[in-house]
Amino acid sequence: MKKKPNILLIYTGGTIGMIKNSETGALENFNFNDLLECIPELNLLDCNISSKSFSNPIDSSNMKPSNWIEIGTIIEDNYKNYDGFVILHGSDTMSYTASALSFMLENLSKPVIFTGSQLPIGDLRTDAKENLITSIQIASLVENNQPVVQEVGLYFEYKLYRANRTTKINAEHFEAFDSPNYPPLIISGVNLSINHQSLLTAKKNKKLVVHKIFEPNILLVKLFPGINKETINHLFSTPNLKGMIFETYGSGNITNEKWFLKALKIIIDKKIPVVNVTQCAGGSVDMNIYSTNVIYRNIGIISGKDISTEAAVTKLMLMLGQNIPANNFKTKFETSLRGEMK
Ligand code: ASP
Repeated sequence: MKKKPNILLIYTGGTIGMIKNSETGALENFNFNDLLECIPELNLLDCNISSKSFSNPIDSSNMKPSNWIEIGTIIEDNYKNYDGFVILHGSDTMSYTASALSFMLENLSKPVIFTGSQLPIGDLRTDAKENLITSIQIASLVENNQPVVQEVGLYFEYKLYRANRTTKINAEHFEAFDSPNYPPLIISGVNLSINHQSLLTAKKNKKLVVHKIFEPNILLVKLFPGINKETINHLFSTPNLKGMIFETYGSGNITNEKWFLKALKIIIDKKIPVVNVTQCAGGSVDMNIYSTNVIYRNIGIISGKDISTEAAVTKLMLMLGQNIPANNFKTKFETSLRGEMK
């Protein structure tokens, strides 16, 4: 008889596990075991479901690297005994956590699916049930004795995306996420339509390695017309700065005013990596087109290519935690680690 897959649900917090206090109207955390009882449909799924929860579930606005490490450690400790993992997480910073996990989990060969909801599970019109049920189904999918998904995904409103390609695009619509630079991996309709050629395939017989050191001393700076010298000089002299991400215009364009170039050169001369990421939702940095970006390429700024800001932040924090020699950092950052860039 075919063995039923074992799926581990990990509840970290967020709307999906909340209930409205009937007196105050405020959303409060709900006991996760009760939540499972609330969805009897889960018993109809062809898998064995177990669950674990953060001892203090948190709103995802409070997520930080130590929480990413906690999730990674739960996966590591349970990796042998489970065929797939579903992480329930608030939607606000889900793309950051899911991107971080994609970089932490090297040689991942089992599905790790992040999901959440816009409305609490107890709400009549909730999107939580569909998101949870289909995430579990996706985490259970097997073809030719292999899990279909062998990477970190994010499932929301009928689509599974590569997690490190996602961004939260809407605070109100059920379709809260998008992946502007990479197609959905699975679309849920009457059937699950699997986009096989877009999925990652794990290398055979490689042991899972979980990277757990993040360097949080980085800056994320969004350029805007009129940004002034004092602000930039203040930001650039942040003590203990280890890395920087610039959200630039269009295909990676930055003002070519002399004072700005000079300030940036000082940072780069200190061997602090600076990554160029576009502010545009879709498309890529290309530092070969305009004079406003070629000069920056020439001083050694790293091209983020078509990476999302969420993936750039978490990749930079993780790479800075790995003591990569300065002369190799740019090449390594510009190389796709988990399908996060072209
Ligand atoms: N503020 C909530 C969170 O991100 C929203 C959600 O759950 O979607 O934790």
